[in-house]
Amino acid sequence: MAAAAAAATNLSPLSKNPSPKRPREECGVVGIYGDPEASRLCYLALHALQHRGQEGAGIVSVHGGLLHSVTGVGLVSDVFNESKLAQLPGDSAIGHVRYSTAGASMLKNVQPFVAGYRFGSIGVAHNGNLVNYQSLRAHLEDNGSIFNTSSDTEVVLHLIAISKARPFFLRIVEACEKLEGAYSMVFLTEDKLVAVRDPFGFRPLVMGRRSNGAVVFASETCALDLIEATYEREVYPGEVLVVDKDGVQSLCLMPHPEPKSCIFEHIYFALPNSVVFGRVVAALGYAAKAGVAFQQGLIRSHYVGRTFIEPSQKIRDFGVKLKLSPVRAVLEGKRVVVVDDSIVRGTTSSKIVRLIKEAGAKEVHMRIASPPIIGSCYYGVDTPSSEELISNRMSVEEIREFIGSDSLAFLPLDSLTKLLGSDSPNFCYACFSGKYPVEPTGKVKRVGDSVDDGLIGSIESIDGVWVQGTRVQEGKGDSKQKMEEEKVSL
Ligand code: SF4
Repeated sequence: MAAAAAAATNLSPLSKNPSPKRPREECGVVGIYGDPEASRLCYLALHALQHRGQEGAGIVSVHGGLLHSVTGVGLVSDVFNESKLAQLPGDSAIGHVRYSTAGASMLKNVQPFVAGYRFGSIGVAHNGNLVNYQSLRAHLEDNGSIFNTSSDTEVVLHLIAISKARPFFLRIVEACEKLEGAYSMVFLTEDKLVAVRDPFGFRPLVMGRRSNGAVVFASETCALDLIEATYEREVYPGEVLVVDKDGVQSLCLMPHPEPKSCIFEHIYFALPNSVVFGRVVAALGYAAKAGVAFQQGLIRSHYVGRTFIEPSQKIRDFGVKLKLSPVRAVLEGKRVVVVDDSIVRGTTSSKIVRLIKEAGAKEVHMRIASPPIIGSCYYGVDTPSSEELISNRMSVEEIREFIGSDSLAFLPLDSLTKLLGSDSPNFCYACFSGKYPVEPTGKVKRVGDSVDDGLIGSIESIDGVWVQGTRVQEGKGDSKQKMEEEKVSL
């Protein structure tokens, strides 16, 4: 009897396609106060956060009461070199890597943004998406504000500029109180670094310190590790942290009884070396529980950049073949279980199934380590509109047929919440449940079209664990029985 091999795939979101095949994080932010190498450390931290955004990068530093800015389109290594970093003196800096959704991907939308106002200058780097952006912008424009970008972050600068609160950082607090949706932001002024996280805490933001006392904020702890800053704690949902020569001061934006951190940060985006749950890679967990061999059936190329030259003649599955190479020696003649993190539109999964079958696999069984995605995200994750999400249109069995696998199963939502235990109420699951913690107003994507309409298929819980669609093929009488043996929990 052939042993089943579990193959993990985790494609990097390096495509320029504006309608993603996989959910994509939009941004990463970093802020450093009190280190003579601030901009260089920012640069290194942005490298560590590169997986959170590849379309643009920027750093703003402060020196002699002036803000200095370098931004550019492309990867961190494309934007910065020695001479660019030399243009960023000072002992405090903020940085940003971005992927675009709110706002087109053009140079003037690359952050951090810098604005001058009556009493000085301010720089801002934002991770998240403001759901009331359009109504705020319309109101500001009615009152004479002129916008330079199509980014929602620019409204924050306008709200700070029109605030009359004193001292200055209270303007930031006042502006943030008008914002709805997701924001983890760092601000830089002539003498302060300010970090803010929205009251729901949709997007992450952590705080650390270097041995020389420099304070560091970053989207993920992997950025702290790279620049040898010790992790201290999260910036709490609804917290404003002001750092200046007098130290760190914490203010509360507005208390919120139940935070709603993005569950996707934990199950998909964050690098395994970042502090999140410390759980095992899904494919390893599956293989261990199922008692089957885990083997790398697909090898991912780490050298595929964002742009490549397409052949003039159509080669089937060109893009996927470029990123993933099947290992024929592992796959040939085997019944293969592929463990993947999500299915968005189904196109990538169908190509992976075909690739593995073409490499000689007898059967391909897909297991998805998250529930079906039925709703679009409005809080800073780049998912397609609800109509494009395959789980919003098809049952599990229809999706299985579409991707061409021999069976397909998703992790049900209640199993995911069970895994999280008592922490489960503190997460946002809107893209799986259609229940949005903050309803968007004047939104970019449509909302309300993502409510579960029964199309996600019969919820057939296997040992209370998997939502499954299984095809029993003629002549494969023992397949079903074998798959029954493989029903395991993550
Ligand atoms: S809708 Fe989904 S992707 Fe967006 S914040 Fe909520 S859990 Fe994360």
